[in-house]
Amino acid sequence: MLDKRNFYINGKWVKPKKSNDFNVINPSDEDSFAVISLGSKEDLDVAVESAKKAFVTWKETSKEERVLLLEKLLSIYKKRFNEMTDAISKEMGAPIDWASSVQNMSGQSHLEDFILRLKDYNFEDHFDEKSNNYISREPIGVCGLITPWNWPINQIALKVIPAFATGCTMILKPSEIAPMSAMLFAEMIDEAGFPRGVFNLVNGDGVGVGSHISHHPDIDMISFTGSTRAGRLISKNASETIKRVCLELGGKGGNIVFADSYPNAVRDGIRNVMSNSGQSCDAPTRMLVEKSIYERAIKEAADEANKIKVDLPSKKGDHIGPVVSKVQYKKIIDLIESGIDEGATLAAGGPQLPNGLNKGYFIKPTIFTNVTNEMRIAKEEIFGPVLSIIPFETEDEAINIVNDTSYGLGNYLQTEDKEKAHRVAKKLRSGCVYINGNAADAGTPFGGYRQSGNGREGGIWGLEEYLEVKTITGWK
Ligand code: NAD
Repeated sequence: MLDKRNFYINGKWVKPKKSNDFNVINPSDEDSFAVISLGSKEDLDVAVESAKKAFVTWKETSKEERVLLLEKLLSIYKKRFNEMTDAISKEMGAPIDWASSVQNMSGQSHLEDFILRLKDYNFEDHFDEKSNNYISREPIGVCGLITPWNWPINQIALKVIPAFATGCTMILKPSEIAPMSAMLFAEMIDEAGFPRGVFNLVNGDGVGVGSHISHHPDIDMISFTGSTRAGRLISKNASETIKRVCLELGGKGGNIVFADSYPNAVRDGIRNVMSNSGQSCDAPTRMLVEKSIYERAIKEAADEANKIKVDLPSKKGDHIGPVVSKVQYKKIIDLIESGIDEGATLAAGGPQLPNGLNKGYFIKPTIFTNVTNEMRIAKEEIFGPVLSIIPFETEDEAINIVNDTSYGLGNYLQTEDKEKAHRVAKKLRSGCVYINGNAADAGTPFGGYRQSGNGREGGIWGLEEYLEVKTITGWK
């Protein structure tokens, strides 16, 4: 049995240099179910040294060699799929069916998609027909990958797979709150037989291993997903060594529901926010409803929220589970109370525990109406099952309200008028706009405008984050 206190460095599970135990809590019962170590600068230094050494030969491997290893990893991922579901469900409280079909499947589909993109990707191109110059794309080097807890394997796959694919070596620091899926993934990588030192995992927290990564002179690039707060600190620290820093940060998505939207648009919007217990960076947490359908919309919204069950993650079904931690729980309850204090109308849910659940970080699906864009609940990323409904009268007013935020990750709009849909989509300042509940296809870029970040993950955009671009003159 793997000792969860160990780190994966240079192809082996090794003990930390200093002991610094950390309890991993199951958010549905508040009990510790595993103990990991928080690493130190010394642990990170050993991991960076091993990644640096491995880069010398790994960067020379052919695309075909890397495709073969990734295909092997994919088959191991499929074989150990149920173990991954259990890990995700326990560490972050995702209900077992959701953990399997959505959270876990996202890891598998990123693996599948990156393998396809890599097979088709040209690392060298002629500049143009008449020129003897050509462009060579080369792996950037040693990468520090820092991930959050809310979509644990999704975020890990979006970083580790393109880093492998492009010939980079890496140190992964997963969230200390949800590290079990990352450790299982490291076991799979070990089983697939990647060369020693190409992939390393060091557990730790943000002030420890996280900030050592952003300062480290031998790390060439950081890919970070997490809060805007931490993204800002990482950028500052990394500026000393001029690292490339790719940031995927928070969001406060708007969802414009026009009067001519399809019949279930409001109910679907509620389901979308509440899924994953509201813990998604691109959740449409501000629903803007055209005044002529406002009264109908708030009735439907409250009715739909009241239908969503909150229950234990271990049970099968389409209920939602707890939020991830005591810290998050307290922050969300505080924001719900601020909505009440600032005069918004509570249409469903509220700060009390859901019926029958006296332990665990469970929160009722909560809807506020008569919200103005100045209230804290409309401005701050709540990261819980809470939605604000804001009325609007004109198309321009709706666009202005949606764009009146420092974030710009995912926005949504609902209308049966195709021309209006595309006109509005182009005016919304965000990396993704989802029309009438359509999902983004695998391989499309995901990322934010403004304080939602500067990176684009997925597909060829995800590969190119890990590449340097070189011009070579002469013959090709
Ligand atoms: P967080 O910023 O607290 O932590 C994320 C990771 O960064 C963790 O591994 C943490 O240990 C580390 N970290 C924290 N402070 C650090 C520092 N100073 N230096 C280096 N590393 C540091 O975020 P979280 O609570 O784990 O995740 C939720 C946040 O992630 C939300 O804001 C959400 O919107 C965002 N998120 C964004 C995307 C996206 O693609 N844009 C996807 C998922 C989550």
